[in-house]
Amino acid sequence: MSEQFLNYINGEWIQAKSGEVIESINPANWDEVVGVIQHSNQEDVDLAVQAAKSAFKNWSKMSAVNRGLFLEKAAALLEQRADEIAEIATKEMGKVLAEMKGEVLRGVAILRYYAQEGMRTNGEVLPSASDEKFLFTKRVPLGVVGVITPWNFPVAIPIWKMAPALVYGNTVVFKPAAETGVTAAKIVEIFAEAGLPQGVLNLVNGDGAVAGNALVEHEDVHAITFTGSNAVGRQIAAKAALKGKKYQLELGGKNPAIVLEDADLELAANLTVAGAMKQTGQRCTATSRVYVHEQVYDTFKELLLEKVRSLKIGNGLDPNAQMGPVASKKQFDTVIGYIEKGKEEGASLLVGGGVPKEQGLEKGYFIEPTIFENVAHDMTIAREEIFGPVLCLIKVKNYEEAIEKANDTVYGLSASLFTNNIGRTFQFVDDIEAGLIQINGETGGAEPQAPFGGMKESSSNSREQGQAAKEFFTTIKTVTVLPVH
Ligand code: NAD
Repeated sequence: MSEQFLNYINGEWIQAKSGEVIESINPANWDEVVGVIQHSNQEDVDLAVQAAKSAFKNWSKMSAVNRGLFLEKAAALLEQRADEIAEIATKEMGKVLAEMKGEVLRGVAILRYYAQEGMRTNGEVLPSASDEKFLFTKRVPLGVVGVITPWNFPVAIPIWKMAPALVYGNTVVFKPAAETGVTAAKIVEIFAEAGLPQGVLNLVNGDGAVAGNALVEHEDVHAITFTGSNAVGRQIAAKAALKGKKYQLELGGKNPAIVLEDADLELAANLTVAGAMKQTGQRCTATSRVYVHEQVYDTFKELLLEKVRSLKIGNGLDPNAQMGPVASKKQFDTVIGYIEKGKEEGASLLVGGGVPKEQGLEKGYFIEPTIFENVAHDMTIAREEIFGPVLCLIKVKNYEEAIEKANDTVYGLSASLFTNNIGRTFQFVDDIEAGLIQINGETGGAEPQAPFGGMKESSSNSREQGQAAKEFFTTIKTVTVLPVH
C-alpha cells in the first residue's frame, strides 16, 4: 500500500471529507504509485478557507519582520531536505534530478529573498498640498489568498506565490496540481516545521474542477493567484471578476528564438536545444519556434541536429539522463497528437517524432526530442502551445520577417534573439511582444528578484516575483493626518 499524504488544515494533517484519494503515478514507470493524496471537495475547501480567515487577524497584525523569520526558517529546512524533495518531485513529474534539485534550490533562494522583504519599505511619504497635513501610504494584505499551481515547477511556483503572499500578511489556501500532490505536501510540511501559526497556510489536494473551482468560488477568498493553462485561466478570471476578487494569471507560451546572420551559431544551437528540450519541453517559457536567417540556416540546422541526437533520454533519477518522460498519460497523448498533426499538415520531420526504443523505458511516458522543418506559419504546430519536446525550425529572409512571424501569436511570454549586433538588440527589445526577453540566452530562466510574466494572452498583465509581487499581494491605504494644535 502506498503512503498516504493528508491535507493540512488549521495546523492539522487530516483526511478529505470525501474519503476518496487520488494516486500520484511515476511517469517514468507507470506501475509505481509515488503516493496517494486527498481528493478534496467543497467541504474541505470551506474548512481550509475558514481556518485561513480566522488566522488572518493575528497574522496580518504581526510585524512583517517577524513574518519574514518564518520564511528564513523554511528556507533553511528546505535546503537541508533538498535531495529528498527533489527525488520525490522527480518521481512525480519526471524531470531529471539535476534540474529538479536546481528548482528546489531556487525555492530556497525565493524564500530567502521574501524573508528579507519583511524589512523593506511598505509605503511612501508624499508631499501634501496643505502646509499642515502629513500624507502617507501603507501597504496592507488582501486577506485569504487562493494559490492554484501546475505540475511543471512543483516546488518553485508554489513558493514564489506563497512566500510573498505570507510575508505581506495574507493567509493562504494552497491547491496544487494533483500530479504533484505529494511534493506539495512535503513543501507544506516544511512550512509547518518552520512553525507557522495554525491556519496561516492550508493545503487542499485534489482535482482542479472540484477543489480548485471551490476555492475560486468561495466568498471568503479575496484573491486568486493561478499558474496553468489558458483555458482554465480564462474561466478563473471570469469567475473572480464576477465575485469581485483580485486575480493573477500566468498562462501558456509559444516562445520564439531568432537566430540572425551574425550570431554565434554554436551558442545559439546549444541554447535553442536547452530552451526547447530541458524539462522535456514542459516549461511555459520553452523555445517552441526558432526563426533562422537564410544565410546561416544550413549550418545552424546541422549543429542543432547534432546536439539533439546526442541527448540521452531516461528515467529522471538516472544520473546520465538528460531528458525525462513527459509528466502524465494526458500529457503524452497531447504531445503525440501534436506530432501527428504536424506530419499530417505537411511539416517535415527532421528528428524524433516517436517513442524511444531503449530498454527500460517501456513503462514510461517517454517521447523523443522532435524537430520539424518546412513548417508553414498557419500549421497547428506553429501556432498552439505543445508543452512537450517539439521544436519548429523555420527559415526567414531577414530580421523583419522573423519579427513579424514571432509576434503573430496570441501569446507573449518569452523570446530570445541571438546576435552580436547591438543596434538589433535594442530594436528587438522594442519590437518583440514578450514579457521576458533574452539576448544570447535561452527563452527559459528567471531570477527571484526580477519580475516574471507575459504580455497578451500569456498572463493577466500582472507580474510575479521580485518587487512586482507586492502589487498583487497587497493593497494601499492612503492616510492624511492633520495635527491639531
Ligand atoms: P491546468 O490549467 O490544467 O492546471 C493548473 C492548475 O489548475 C492545477 O492545480 C489544476 O488542478 C487546477 N485547475 C484545473 N481546472 C480548474 C478549475 N476549473 N478551477 C480551478 N482550478 C483548476 O495546467 P497544467 O496542465 O497543470 O499546467 C500546464 C500549463 O501551465 C501550460 O499551459 C503552461 O504554459 C502553464 N504554465 C505557465 C507558467 C507561467 O508562469 N506563465 C508557468 C508554468 C506553467
